[in-house]
Amino acid sequence: MDHSKIKLIVRLQHLDNLIENILSLQKGLPEEIDALEEDITFTERQIESRRKIAAEHEKTRQELGETIDHCRSKIKTFKDKQTLARNNKEYDALSKQIEYEEKEIAQAEIMLQDIQHKEQKATELQEKGRQLIAENRYDEINEEMMPDDVLQQQFEDLKKQVEQKKEELESIIVETASEVSDLEDKIKAQRAVVMEEAPRLLAKYDHLKSGRVQNAVVKLHRQACSGCNTRVPTNRHTLIVQGGFYLCESCGRMVVHERLFEEAENA
Ligand SMILES: [Zn+2]
Repeated sequence: MDHSKIKLIVRLQHLDNLIENILSLQKGLPEEIDALEEDITFTERQIESRRKIAAEHEKTRQELGETIDHCRSKIKTFKDKQTLARNNKEYDALSKQIEYEEKEIAQAEIMLQDIQHKEQKATELQEKGRQLIAENRYDEINEEMMPDDVLQQQFEDLKKQVEQKKEELESIIVETASEVSDLEDKIKAQRAVVMEEAPRLLAKYDHLKSGRVQNAVVKLHRQACSGCNTRVPTNRHTLIVQGGFYLCESCGRMVVHERLFEEAENA
């Protein structure tokens, strides 16, 4: 039996394995980068929302302060007028106006207290968070408890981390670029040869690869298919040893003698 066809497909699998090994060097990095970037967005949003609340409080505080000043100056004017009042009616009318302004001031002061109360509560929560951090009780900390400075530090750290990972990935890509393109050329050429010599095997190979299987051709290992570990019947061993292939009954992979991979590597 002519086993030259299977050798061609083993060579293709060998080349595909080489490129897969190179790509596995960066395995995880793109996903890690994505996850870090999500964390960065989330942290940035938290910081931004705190900044917004602080700015709103500041603006309201200023407006209320202006209202109070305005009311006070009005009260002063009314009081001055009272000293010049010609009769009780005039005096009482001014008293009513003063009373109104005083109510306005009281209302503004309540609103100012409300802001102060909110800020105090936020500070207390952050202090609690700081304490929990000191005690390593991270799982008990919620979003509001994260102290401003810790949140900011976290944001800076995440940015540094993602930069490092990106550089790492970039350098892997750069370092392996020529090797990858060299392998891609070889794979292209090898596929052309297999297409010419053994189109049915190539179709089988591609069909297996289009599924969940990364390695369509595998070695016989300890008398089993090394793809799925299913035992290969003894009566098929001779064929494999002679350089033929066996289609695993369990996973459908092509099982060959490891010698063929050694030959493919040295080809
Ligand atoms: Zn198998």
